[in-house]
Parts: sequence; structure tokens; C-alpha cells
Amino acid sequence: MSDTDRMPALFLAHGNPMNAIADNDFTRAMSRLADDLPRPKAVLVVSAHWGTRGTRVLSSRSPRTIHDFGGFPRELYEVEYPAPGSPELAKAVSELAPNVSADTEWGLDHAAWTALRHMWPDADVPIFELSVDVTARPQAHWDLGERLAPLRDEGVLVVGGGNIVHSFDGIDWGENAAPRPWAEEFDAWVADALARGDRESLVDYESAGEIARLSFATSEHYLPLLYPAAMADPGESVTFPYTGIDMATMSMRCVRWG
Ligand code: ZN
Repeated sequence: MSDTDRMPALFLAHGNPMNAIADNDFTRAMSRLADDLPRPKAVLVVSAHWGTRGTRVLSSRSPRTIHDFGGFPRELYEVEYPAPGSPELAKAVSELAPNVSADTEWGLDHAAWTALRHMWPDADVPIFELSVDVTARPQAHWDLGERLAPLRDEGVLVVGGGNIVHSFDGIDWGENAAPRPWAEEFDAWVADALARGDRESLVDYESAGEIARLSFATSEHYLPLLYPAAMADPGESVTFPYTGIDMATMSMRCVRWG
């Protein structure tokens, strides 16, 4: 592939799992985003909902749909996203990063299919996942992202699947809930670092202080951001296909590199 065939990289929010079956500004933005992308050979989702010790890559040929949440309406549990997997590209991941082990037990969780079913409703693009090593420091996540950057030249669309701000403390399930000021501030702080390509700030997000501490109790929804960010070339365009804070404490900001 030539340089011009390099796939963009994305970070996609999911927020309320009900977005998977909704028709709203977010879901329509996801649909438009897919229309604007080159068709990927496969999509690799770094999933906030697949926390492991060590990193794994989903290598099944037909991944199952995982409904990893509780207390939602039956129709959400009936969602199936029967996209094929990509054992071949999972192998390419392990070749680029030998410490990543293959896994056939996991499937596609809602960090993947909440947005993807609006992007490719026919589930005809192969999807596989990378887990988030919950024992690794942010810098190690960044380094693994850099190591996997050549996937972009192989037609793989790498998607960080999480939320930049993800707090249940202060959440408001009402529609049109006003964002908490600290949620807006941290979301804007990260957006600024992304726009400037400021890798130090993205990795050392704790340097944002109190607004970072309030924005999540655990970092698994933030860390997937570091993978596509680490794959960007210096000066590569950074745009935000969707922004907003849902439920007062969930950043829905999505990011596109390239
Ligand atoms: Zn989530």
C-alpha cells in the first residue's frame, strides 16, 4: 500500500449502551463517519470493556456478541453483531507485539458494537479486539500503540473504544443533563492536548490535577485513547467527528487522526 492508503485511526465513545439501538445525534454522526472513511480490511477495537492482565488479541473467526451490562431493556440484550473476526490480522498483531497473546474466549463487547453497528449495520467488515492490560502504566499502553502503528498501512482501522470522561460519581441519567464543570474542563484539556499532539500530557493525564481525578475512578475507559494517538504521525490532522457530555459525566468526544 502507498502512504495515501494509510487508514485513519479513531477513538470512539460509547457512553450509555442504549446508544446501540438509538437514533440520535451521536448515532447519526457515527453513520456519517463511516460513509467518509475508506473501507477498512478490518477494524481493531481496543476495548475499555476487556480488561486483562497482560494484553490479548481476539483471534476467533466468528466472535460472539457480548452483552456486558446489567439492568437495560430486553431489546438491548437481543442485539447481535455477527461481524466476522480476523484471525489473520490477529496474528499480525502478535507478530508486531510478541507479548500479546491470542484469545478465542472473548467476543465483541459493547465498547465495539455500540458505535460499529451504526457504522456498518450489515456487520460485513471483520472486527477483532485488543484488551486493555489493567496492570500496565499509561506509558506502556502508548508504547504498544506505537508498536502496532504499521497496522494502519495494512488497511486496519484501529479504534480506541472508551470515553475520555467516564464517571458514575455525579452521573445524571436524565435527558439533557447539564455537564459537570470538571467533566467539561477535562474533556477540553484532553482535546487541546490531542490537537497539539502533546503526547506527554496525554500519557501523564494526572498532571491535569483535580479535573482528571474526578473524571474517572479507574482508567480503562481513558487508556484506549492512547493507542490511536500513539499511531499518529507528527502533524497529522486531528478532528472530532462528535463531541458532547452525556448524562453530566460521560464525554462522547470522538477523535479521528488522518
Ligand atoms: Zn463503557
